Amino acid sequence: MNKFNQLILTTCLLVPLPTLAAGGPAAPAAPAVASDKHFHPKGKMPSEHTLKVLEAARKDLPFSDTRDFDEEKKGFIAAPDFWQIKNKDGAVIWDMERYKFFLEGKDFPSIHPSLQRQSTLNMNYGLYKVMEGVYQVRGFDLANMSFVKGDTGWIIFDPLTAEETARAALELVNEKLGKFPVKAVVYSHSHGDHWGGVRGVIDEADVRAGKVEVIAPRDFMLHTISENVYAGNAMNRRLFYQYGILLPASPFGHAGQGLAQNVASGNVTLIAPTHVVEKDIEELTVDGVRMIFQNTPGTEAPAEMNTYFPDKKLLWMAENVTGTFHNIYTLRGAPVRDALRWSKYINEALHLFGKEAEVMFASHHWPRWGNERIQEVLRGQRDLYANINNQSLHLANQGVTINQVHNVYKTPKGISDNWFNRGYHGSPQHNSRAVINRFLGFWDANPATLIPLSPADSAPLYVEMMGGAKKIMAKGKELHDKGDYMNAQEILNKLVLAEPQNQAAKNLLADVYEQIGYQQEDPGLRNSYLAGAFELRSGIPEGEIVDSSGPDVVRAMSTELFLDFLGIRMDPDKAADMAFTINLITPDNGEKFIIELSNATLTNIEGFQAEDADLTITINRTDLEPVMMGVKTLEAQIADGTAKVEGDTSVIGKLASTLVVFDPRFEILPGTAAKPTEEDLTDYEVGPVNVSGE
Ligand SMILES: [Zn+2]
Repeated sequence: MNKFNQLILTTCLLVPLPTLAAGGPAAPAAPAVASDKHFHPKGKMPSEHTLKVLEAARKDLPFSDTRDFDEEKKGFIAAPDFWQIKNKDGAVIWDMERYKFFLEGKDFPSIHPSLQRQSTLNMNYGLYKVMEGVYQVRGFDLANMSFVKGDTGWIIFDPLTAEETARAALELVNEKLGKFPVKAVVYSHSHGDHWGGVRGVIDEADVRAGKVEVIAPRDFMLHTISENVYAGNAMNRRLFYQYGILLPASPFGHAGQGLAQNVASGNVTLIAPTHVVEKDIEELTVDGVRMIFQNTPGTEAPAEMNTYFPDKKLLWMAENVTGTFHNIYTLRGAPVRDALRWSKYINEALHLFGKEAEVMFASHHWPRWGNERIQEVLRGQRDLYANINNQSLHLANQGVTINQVHNVYKTPKGISDNWFNRGYHGSPQHNSRAVINRFLGFWDANPATLIPLSPADSAPLYVEMMGGAKKIMAKGKELHDKGDYMNAQEILNKLVLAEPQNQAAKNLLADVYEQIGYQQEDPGLRNSYLAGAFELRSGIPEGEIVDSSGPDVVRAMSTELFLDFLGIRMDPDKAADMAFTINLITPDNGEKFIIELSNATLTNIEGFQAEDADLTITINRTDLEPVMMGVKTLEAQIADGTAKVEGDTSVIGKLASTLVVFDPRFEILPGTAAKPTEEDLTDYEVGPVNVSGE
């Protein structure tokens, strides 16, 4: 069976398609837990050391600047009378209810005060007026959905991740502002939280009939589909960490995602654009609304654009300027972004539009009003991205390596004293490493790290030289109790690698990770440590992952990309003694390929045909799509005459026999694939190391 279920969509985060797919039970929403109770029986309260770290952080933060709260509230029209959005089968695919603990007015000592502030702001929920004729629905998904009123209807910017959440947002607008047709949809960029809900707001038949325009930046389709298919399964797994996708929402667990509280898990849809903005700067009038698009490739996303509305003095900064330091490297894994280019495009927007704009809004967070404030934010973010680039390279040129820079790089105070420059998605730590990775790669030029032993292979000698598990546990506990969590993780990590079944060691390391997690401002870092603690204590978490991918998305994938991915799925050991050549012809789109298996490697080339092919397959691309989606086998397509074949059909079975279906629950931390025993679970102290305070 051909499953393409590891396909991942890229969002600012990147959303795992399997959990987003329609139908069937959605991933069960983690239960709401009383906000002063830890959700895990082994979970610990923040230690006195963690409390000190967070208290020091609090003193250093610009709490006297409360403008975000004014901006977040400004223009509020109405909130819906529900906190959850369900799919057609009744499964909850969006849930603000479970983040209500942020409305309790408490300071949670297990959440960094800066992150708590951001997540409290992200409880903005409902319909907001940006200016006359411009509105936003916020808190219905990871992104905002924005509405600009034209002569006869709406121009929608960024229809969210899921059909269900986008539809609910449009219904709220219809109910509160009157019902008008949608005249156009603008996708600001290629990340899935900005287009996946499109079928919730427009009908493809209306697009085909020319009643609705779909507008997107240059190379939108290419990057929407291709950015991360090849390493999709690994990225999917890493979302357990960066996004804490199976961590319960709790002051001790998932505490918001920085950009918003979370990502909806509904049906992902896609309608291809009817108008691609090809020029660097391009003006277009739709339904009487004049828009100037600024392509900004290679910034927050590989295909992205800002928009200026000159008649409104209104500037849309897509996801290039939001209320956070964004990712230069995203922890789920992706090619590193270009911070300098990003800064330059912000500077261009400042000089093209920002000198006269009176309102600025974006695809996450809240708008900025008044030209002075707009220039302050644009300049601040410009300097933020330029600084991480320039200073990281400044340090690299003086010998600071990728393995040190996160401990050396400091964001200048003039930058970090602005809330909108704080790390709620990117962090100075992982972004500074990213810059060095972009320019110099992973190696720190120390021969010891060039071709090192694998971690599990080197660990036993460390454990032996340190005097064995007992000594490491004693020292680990001592370091833990002193609050020296970084050194504790160094030695306990070696022990766990050497003794994956040592549950006591895993529990202690989990306690260490948990405290490090509580201390993080950045939710991606926090989630990664807390997810690590969770897996060490309980094994890889359960939780339904729907086993199908959105048909709209698979349909949009190029045949070449599909064939490339077959090459990645092929197990070279199984293919060791095989060799064959296949010609593939798809008449309806005029493509042809040679697919060749040789040297345990599957390659393909478009536009050529082999004269001596073992097999020639002729199948329309539209008929190949069910095969790509795993709905139908190629053999079945041949049997019913949909596909025509000439030559040795046995090579199809041979190829299929080599293909592996990747499992998105592979083990990351040692000894976590198997669940701990009952005995393990009772073998620890329950209860607080330190009590939760106000
Ligand atoms: Zn986004």
